Amino acid sequence: MSVNMRNETRETVSSPVAANGAYDVVRLADDLLARAAKAGASDVHFEPTAGGMLIRFRLDGSLKTVEEIPRTISQNLVSRLKVLGGLLTYRNDIPQEGRIESAPGGGDGLAERRLAVFPTVHGQRAVVRFFYNRAELNELDELGLPDGILAALKEFSGQSQGVLLATGPAGSGKSTTLAAILRHIRRAWPGKSIIALEDPVERIIDGVTQIQITPHGELTFPTALRSLVRQDPEVLMIGEIRDVQTARIVIEAGLTGHLLFSTMHSGTPAGAILRLLEMGIEPYQITSGLWGVLNQRLIRRLCRACKIRDERDGAWRAAGCPDCLGTGFKGRALLAELLRLDGDLRKAILAGADSDLMQAAMARHGHITMSQEGLALVRGGITTAREIEAACGTATAGNEP
Ligand SMILES: [Zn+2]
Repeated sequence: MSVNMRNETRETVSSPVAANGAYDVVRLADDLLARAAKAGASDVHFEPTAGGMLIRFRLDGSLKTVEEIPRTISQNLVSRLKVLGGLLTYRNDIPQEGRIESAPGGGDGLAERRLAVFPTVHGQRAVVRFFYNRAELNELDELGLPDGILAALKEFSGQSQGVLLATGPAGSGKSTTLAAILRHIRRAWPGKSIIALEDPVERIIDGVTQIQITPHGELTFPTALRSLVRQDPEVLMIGEIRDVQTARIVIEAGLTGHLLFSTMHSGTPAGAILRLLEMGIEPYQITSGLWGVLNQRLIRRLCRACKIRDERDGAWRAAGCPDCLGTGFKGRALLAELLRLDGDLRKAILAGADSDLMQAAMARHGHITMSQEGLALVRGGITTAREIEAACGTATAGNEP
């Protein structure tokens, strides 16, 4: 256990280690869960090893080992979690899932905690997933988008037709951005009819008719979409374009008086366009239906409590502090680029351009790339150059993990 963290938690939670060195697993479980929530962890992993158990927090996407406990108590700790999660404590041989009720008025913004246990050769492994009420990510203005992109998205939101695709790997915040855009439309044009098709519905958006798509059921994206366009919606959000039929209906609806938002797995904006072409969407449909592609990533934000600007080279660095559990990062920021379809790029698509020619047309048009947008975040001390490189490296590699 790190010295910092012990000092930090001692004020609020009494130590789980008794005077004689024995662990109190009830207190240890409470202590770990409270510390994870305070740190804003998305998951806590309880990983059994040959010698004991590693306890790791997932902080802003990365796992950090916060504690190592001996084998003598590791399975008792999992048993305690199972009690908290309402699972069968006498069954150690099957995977189980449950929920851990939060203490009322905890003040840590917790919405829910889900527990999953799984048997391994070294004993049971457990993961507790934390869900927070993060109101600050609800509003378009608060996502941290560059001003130019924000203004363009707002302008598009007021149009009567066209398609905006959000791209990026899984977990890059695409649906958060689209939900924020729908909220913006809802408020700016209260009379508009907005329908969202999702698989699954991730969050409730007031004033939006949300429909859950079942992966193997009868209500698929294409069947639901075909009927829905007859329900006279003005704004449609389609969770994800995964197949040709969905792509086709989305683009066609975007050409016929609907404002459409959807997501697609692609590492680059040009990659998303090429994928639509590969799916058999006609170039002219893309150039007239698709308004733009928003490519985005979530990057780690430098810890506000310990970051400092190095006077020698002007770069921001964070050494790590109790606030960020020594990682130097706390919270996440959005890195994005917006590709608008106009002029040269339209011509290039119609001429059957490949990725390189499309990139060249984008450059001629003054497209600001993701790494260029990232420079502003580095200069502003939001994140590090290395974070941007890592995020944009995924971009050039092209596809999803
Ligand atoms: Zn810090």
